[in-house]
Amino acid sequence: MSRLSRRNKAVVTLLVAIILILLGYVARPLTESPRRSAKRVAAGTYVVEHVYDGDSLRLANGAGVRLVGIDTPERGQAFSEEGRSFAKELLEGKTVRLVPAKEPVDRYKRNLAYLYLERDGKEVFVNAEMVRHGYAYAWPYKPNTSHSEEILAAQKEAQAQRRGLWARKPRKLKYYIVEQRTKYSLTHRSRCPKLKKSKSPTMRFEDRLDAINYGGGAPPCRECRP
Ligand SMILES: [Zn+2]
Repeated sequence: MSRLSRRNKAVVTLLVAIILILLGYVARPLTESPRRSAKRVAAGTYVVEHVYDGDSLRLANGAGVRLVGIDTPERGQAFSEEGRSFAKELLEGKTVRLVPAKEPVDRYKRNLAYLYLERDGKEVFVNAEMVRHGYAYAWPYKPNTSHSEEILAAQKEAQAQRRGLWARKPRKLKYYIVEQRTKYSLTHRSRCPKLKKSKSPTMRFEDRLDAINYGGGAPPCRECRP
């Protein structure tokens, strides 16, 4: 008797678990936060409502935008806060011209785009402007590479003027390794654990900036920080 009831209990528990899992599947689309649903934007002019950091923002219509062709330091790392303040000052409340990238949405459902801003009668290319001031690295990410030459030129200017990320020279290493992934490249220290796991082709450089500028831009790896 007691053995049977124990078995019944197990069956009931299993059934309840199955029902809960099924309910979870049904309920998910209903409970998903509206902020996660992508709002796609076409080419046009928009007002910037909020800057999250040096390369991502929200438009007044609620759409999220990621500036392409560049990479800003992660929150907490050097120059991430300065980059965010600079982008806030430059963009918040302003009207911008948006051009969607070739691949127009990323996995976070943000609109990938190039932004242009009218300033003193001239049009400023915002993506390159972040790099020119040393707040972002040039980072061509396939297939969104159409302005990589202009963005790399801005990076070389920032390096020559030692602005922001380029103000301090890290201790020189013997070599820098550029890992050429399918869609983008990164610069590593030769002993980086991430590099050891990688099967991508690599190139060796003696000069740090030659590595970081390779192929339109190979930013320093966030793990080994060369
Ligand atoms: Zn690395």
